[in-house]
Amino acid sequence: MALAYDDQNIFARILRGEIPNKTVLETDHTLAFHDISPSAPVHVLVIPKGPYVSFDHFCAEATDAEILDFHRTAAKVCAMTGVALDSGEGFRAITNAGEHGVQEVPHYHLHILGGRHMGRMVS
Ligand code: 5GP
Repeated sequence: MALAYDDQNIFARILRGEIPNKTVLETDHTLAFHDISPSAPVHVLVIPKGPYVSFDHFCAEATDAEILDFHRTAAKVCAMTGVALDSGEGFRAITNAGEHGVQEVPHYHLHILGGRHMGRMVS
């Protein structure tokens, strides 16, 4: 089943330059920017530039180049923000999908959270 992509979602508007963002890193396929309402000292959102709704949609439909670039960019963000394991104290990388995942913005994004102990995930 093809997932319908809402091109008016807030991240689509950020990608089109209609809404400003605080960019951490941008490549041909990927954009990483600071979350507007951070849950930790480091809270960066990594998004593909293509119209993918969720993690599973992205992994099923994106090209190998997009998928590789996305993950390399996410790793670079960890290094740039000082949370990578070789230079910092670690991070949490999570993604929410759909209603049960409590996804607010229907454009795939990876949250990179760090700069404090994140605690155990309990729910
Ligand atoms: P979700 O609940 O979909 O996993 O996470 C959406 C995230 O997007 C939230 O952490 C929220 O703070 C962030 N967000 C929502 N609107 C904006 C915006 O306009 N700019 C930025 N930078 N982040 C946003």
